[in-house]
Amino acid sequence: MTAARSMRAAVLHAPGEPLRLEEVRLAGPGRGELLVRVQAAGVCHSDLHYMTGDLTCRLPVVLGHEGAGIVEDVGPGVSGIEPGDAVVFTWRPRCGRCEFCLIGRPALCAAGQVPAATGGLLDGTSRLSLGDGRPAHHLMGVSCFAEFCVVARESVVRIPAGTSPRIAALTGCAVITGVGAVLNVMGADGTGPGRGPGTGVLVIGAGGVGLAVVMGAAMVGAYPIIAADLSAERLEVARSLGATHTIVAGQADLAGAVREIQPGGVQWAFEAVGQPETLVAGARSLRPTGTLVAIGLSRAGQTVPLPINELVQRDLRVIGSLYGSSNTVVQIPRLLELHQAGRLDLSRIPGPEYPLAEINEAYARLPSQSVGRGLILIGES
Ligand SMILES: [Zn+2]
Ligand SMILES: [Zn+2]
Repeated sequence: MTAARSMRAAVLHAPGEPLRLEEVRLAGPGRGELLVRVQAAGVCHSDLHYMTGDLTCRLPVVLGHEGAGIVEDVGPGVSGIEPGDAVVFTWRPRCGRCEFCLIGRPALCAAGQVPAATGGLLDGTSRLSLGDGRPAHHLMGVSCFAEFCVVARESVVRIPAGTSPRIAALTGCAVITGVGAVLNVMGADGTGPGRGPGTGVLVIGAGGVGLAVVMGAAMVGAYPIIAADLSAERLEVARSLGATHTIVAGQADLAGAVREIQPGGVQWAFEAVGQPETLVAGARSLRPTGTLVAIGLSRAGQTVPLPINELVQRDLRVIGSLYGSSNTVVQIPRLLELHQAGRLDLSRIPGPEYPLAEINEAYARLPSQSVGRGLILIGES
């Protein structure tokens, strides 16, 4: 079994501070755990929430929760996965036995929330420590802004060998969150009101998750697919991925602009920004019986002032969707299969690439400028 090792990792010591690239100690994998060599990690907005203090976690912490790599070693009691296998991390491990796991909604597994609560792995303990011996924490049981991760077997999904790590990494958060919300929440079965082809969809926010919603909506034949974002550059990418109309937000009354495109309003609005104003604009863009789906995280405690009478009189629904309401174990490999088959071209989702040493630059560029999902390339094979 692998002994403890020293490795480079991006550590958050306190909110508001830049990440520190430093040598940390990583213990070998324990029972039911894996050592994974990280190849690529996504620059997801959720990590930024921890850096700014909008969300809190146990500190110091090695950030990174969206990534892919190669299994380097397995601990005792691990079956069905071996060194050399390609894996994607999931930021909610699943027990596989509880009610939510059994109905195919592992993101809601109570055991899976232990890592978030403790800063440890599935058993609540950490394998990380700083160079001076002080303990360090995992983020959501993953911590992939590092050369290696030790994770619970339940925190990875095995994927076909040879999958591009750039694409694979993003399926673990952005892609499954966005495409999953369309497939699992909006439904692709073509039955029932507001579900079939020709259904109007608004996507607010054209970052990694929003682009994935656009792609999912295009795959199920939605029309129109209206993307709204502050950046005209991002909207251009959205258009190339299937958005039929775009709105430069901030310059226009969003709901008014949506109604100019689809006069009655859209049946579905997906909000990937996590801001009260855009959630309200999403609700105001709906046609009667329409649904607003909140998929972007906000700072802890943030609330939305929604117009009560409009909700009632126009028969609207406002719902949330965590992790695309997906069965990650089944659906992440399936999305990669669709990509391989040319039915879901994920190659346009990855954006600018950075080495681990430039992770602070990657996050500095995130809020406004970057197009597509930024990637940290760590140890590509
Ligand atoms: Zn994420
Ligand atoms: Zn469970």
